[in-house]
Parts: sequence; structure tokens; C-alpha cells
Amino acid sequence: MRVTLDAINKRFGDTVAVDDLSLTIEDGEFLVLVGPSGCGKTTSLRMIAGLEEPTDGRIYFGDRDVTGDSPQEREIAFVFQDYALYPHMTAKRNLSFALEDEGVPEDEIERRVEETATMLGIDEQLDQRPGELSGGQQQRVALGRSIIRDPKVFLLDEPLSNLDAKLRMKMRAELQSLHQNLETTMIYVTHDQEEAMTMSDRIAIMNKGTLQQVAPPEVAYNQPANRFVAGFIGSPSMNFLDATLRNGRIVADPFAFESPLDSEDVTELGVRPEDLTVDYDPSDAQASATVEVFEQVGSSNIVYLQVDGHEESVVAETSASMKLEPGDTVGVSVDTERVHLFDRTGDAIYN
Ligand code: ATP
Repeated sequence: MRVTLDAINKRFGDTVAVDDLSLTIEDGEFLVLVGPSGCGKTTSLRMIAGLEEPTDGRIYFGDRDVTGDSPQEREIAFVFQDYALYPHMTAKRNLSFALEDEGVPEDEIERRVEETATMLGIDEQLDQRPGELSGGQQQRVALGRSIIRDPKVFLLDEPLSNLDAKLRMKMRAELQSLHQNLETTMIYVTHDQEEAMTMSDRIAIMNKGTLQQVAPPEVAYNQPANRFVAGFIGSPSMNFLDATLRNGRIVADPFAFESPLDSEDVTELGVRPEDLTVDYDPSDAQASATVEVFEQVGSSNIVYLQVDGHEESVVAETSASMKLEPGDTVGVSVDTERVHLFDRTGDAIYN
């Protein structure tokens, strides 16, 4: 089912939680809504669910205006962070309960429970109660309880945040394959940009109630619409340096290089850690720098550098084979093909 938000606003008293949000989620798409705490993600999802009414704007499921419809009328499934299973019921009953309530015939319930349990790999746990299940198994039962009702739209709000890191990674992959099997529209809220990047077909980035960019993850990463997106997506974050255009060159102390565009509007240079090259020998580099912190993260190293003319540390990512120590003098150069340039308003004018 296609979901369209048309100029949605949501105010709570003086607080503008969501500001003029227009967004279409295509039928079968996996869209992740991401942004920092308080940016309006949950409120947006709750409006799609029908748990919250927009102050202004319309919501459509396909061509149907559902703005005034109850959650039941919308045929959605909602999975929260704090999914609550019925503790006294077996996993099987937890799955079948809603269907029994709807008066679905018994043999069909059996079939759907079996199908759902197989899809989620919990066939062996059907007779156990929630207290006897691991966190991941409980999470699967919670998902199963939603899937079994065959919703038109699947809404998930930070469903993995109570799981430990390893299980979270596993469930991310499982949710993706589940989405491929179900082909249901899924809208997933998280504050975790890495989760958003790895799971989504498209990512919608919000800040302070306003949609910043909607794009496939790699586009948001490589062509961020503005400084907010550039800084939010990617870890460690993009480096930002004050910059000006002078005689056809970008000057961002201590770096200077031929400008890829002819615009006086440049005020800031953005460069990702992996787009900086660190050399043991400073003589051939664009600038010299002092190593402040050197972190080995396994597949690469993260180096915090003090560069002349720039107060904040500049962060570079190097190959794992490079060995450095705090206090070392190194060379540092910007990959000028991979720079991002921003204007005074924070809009990206070159990616
Ligand atoms: P988080 O990741 O912390 O859950 P979020 O991005 O989901 O944040 P929302 O929960 O949508 O953000 O909240 C957006 C803004 O609206 C916040 O400023 C919040 O304080 C406010 N808000 C949300 N719900 C209500 C409410 N019921 N009454 C008053 N203000 C609210």
C-alpha cells in the first residue's frame, strides 16, 4: 500500500512537532525515518498509524484519504520498542490471539500460525511462554503477532533498541529478509543512522520537525542535501571547516585547492574522515598536523588530528596497517574529488 503524507503539521500547544511534512512511501517500500531525539519521527509514525491526528494536512493510503480513520480502519500493524507479550500465554496463543478475536476459522489460524512461525524461525518455541524465551525470540513473537494479521502497512518504532548489539545486528538482517518475503510497505523509525543506512530502500532524515532529505542511503551519504544531513549520516562524522573562494581556489585553512565550482557562496568545506589521506611524511602533503588520538578499530584506524589554523580536531580514517602515536607529526591531504561545499544557509552547493 502506498502511503502519502500531504503537508502534515502537528502542534502540541506551542511545540511544533512536525512541520509541513510531505512524503510518499511507495507500495512495498522499506522507508526508515531517522533523526535526533525530538525531531518528530515518532509523532509522524503515530499520525500514519492513526494514534495521533494531524493539526493540518492529509494522509492517504493508496488513493483513500484516511486522515480521520481509526487505527483499526487503517489495517496497519504497529511494533513498538516496548512490545508487551501476554506473559501467561504460550508463544502460539500470543500469535493467534488477535485472529481468534476476529473470529477467523480455527484451521486458518493453525495455518497462519505455522506459516508465521516458520518465517520467523520460532516453530520450536510455540509452546513456550514469554518468560522462557530469549530476548530475540520474544522480539520475533512480537513481530509475528503483527505479521499474522497481514497488515497493509507495517509501522515499527525502534523495535530493536532493547536488544543487545549482536542480536540487534542479527534482527536487522532478519527484518530485511522478512520485508523481502512479505513485500509489505514498512516504515521504520530509529535515531540510529547506521541502522537506517543498512536497512532501508530510502531514508528520510528529519531535524526539528522538518524533513531534510529523502533518498537512498548511498545518495544521502554521498550527496547530502545540506550540512545537517552531511553531519548526521556517517560515523565518525564529516569534518567541517570554514571556507572561502579566492582566485578560483577553495581556501579552508590549512587546506587550499582548485575549486570545483565558481561560486562566491561557499562558506564551508565538508570532508569525510575516509576522504582525508594521512602520510608519515608531511613534506608532500597539503598540510601538516599533529596526532592527538589514535584509535585502532580493527578494519581501519581513526586518527584525531590537530591541524594548523583549525581549533577542533580533524578526524581521519586510515588503513589498519598505519601505526601512529599521539604527538607524531604527519601530513594530511584532502581528496579534492570527494569534497562537499556548503553555503551560508547550510545548503550543499557542491557534492
Ligand atoms: P525520540 O527519538 O526521542 O522518541 P522523536 O523524534 O520521535 O524523538 P517525537 O516524539 O515525535 O520525537 O517528538 C517531537 C516533539 O514533539 C518533541 O519536542 C516532543 O517533546 C513533542 N511531543 C511529542 N508528543 C507530545 C505530546 N503528547 N505532548 C506534547 N509534546 C509532545
